Amino acid sequence: MSYSDIYGHEKQIEILKRAQIQERVGHAYLFNGAPGIGKRTLALEFARALNCTAFDEQNDACGRCLSCRKIEHHNHPDIAQIAADGQFIRINAVREIQEQMRFRPLEATRRVFIIDDADRMNEQAANALLKTLEEPTVHNLLILITARPHTLPRTILSRCRQMRFQPLTTADVVRYLRDKLNMEEKQAVLLAGISGGSPGLALEQNKDETIAGRQEILNMLGATRSKNPLSLLSFASFFGRDKKEIKLSLSIIKTVFRDAMVFKETGRQAMLINQDNMPLIESLSSRLSGEQLIRNIALTENAAETIDLNVNKSLTLEVMAFKLSL
Ligand SMILES: [Zn+2]
Repeated sequence: MSYSDIYGHEKQIEILKRAQIQERVGHAYLFNGAPGIGKRTLALEFARALNCTAFDEQNDACGRCLSCRKIEHHNHPDIAQIAADGQFIRINAVREIQEQMRFRPLEATRRVFIIDDADRMNEQAANALLKTLEEPTVHNLLILITARPHTLPRTILSRCRQMRFQPLTTADVVRYLRDKLNMEEKQAVLLAGISGGSPGLALEQNKDETIAGRQEILNMLGATRSKNPLSLLSFASFFGRDKKEIKLSLSIIKTVFRDAMVFKETGRQAMLINQDNMPLIESLSSRLSGEQLIRNIALTENAAETIDLNVNKSLTLEVMAFKLSL
């Protein structure tokens, strides 16, 4: 692994490289952005670059020195990944960080603590971490990772250099799936399409149930018409109850509206995500106007955002179903 093996995030990589060259690496960073897009991978790569003993002219870790290899195999004594124990990251985990920080690193130039899902710190853990952030040390670096920065105390946010990560482009996710899993193009395009730019989510959904569930959703969508309120209600109830499952279904129907719009504009099948469902795409693109399709995309996006806020799920879905043009 090196920076050049990371998919997307070119701007963030540039910022980290520059900080290292100019010897202006901060003592705490917050990487925020959607789950599964490579924040932790990049944090580890940064740790490798900072500690590589044969740093190359591209300002990238060499991948061969002892430090690089130890970090790659997760057995470097000074590079720690902290994750939630059950639902929370508890104060003991933070105390352990503080205990280690009292001493110089064993092998590293800079010891790195990567705190995954930092928003899961309970109040005591967050308070303890705040003390650590208030007393920076030269040999230590903290990287907090989260998809929900707004749930972290402001006092913590203000003491970290914040870096925002965007989802990858569909093309980057396709490339990732093809390279890493040798996946065939069709399947890669489909998974990249429903993953919303998250290779992690694409990998998680790479299973038969998802593919079968997707077809059921598409069939249901094909059978639903705006004129028929009963079909709208059963369409809304079809999304299930689980938040993750609902969001996946919303993301699937979003790709269908997207495809219908692209097909309407270009008439080209090759650019579509759901090429295996052409009758549905053709029917929507001939029945609906471009404006209606764009509005449908916005409605599914809004519904997904609202579901994230833990409001009444079935009501949100029903309202969406009645507003969609079908
Ligand atoms: Zn190295």
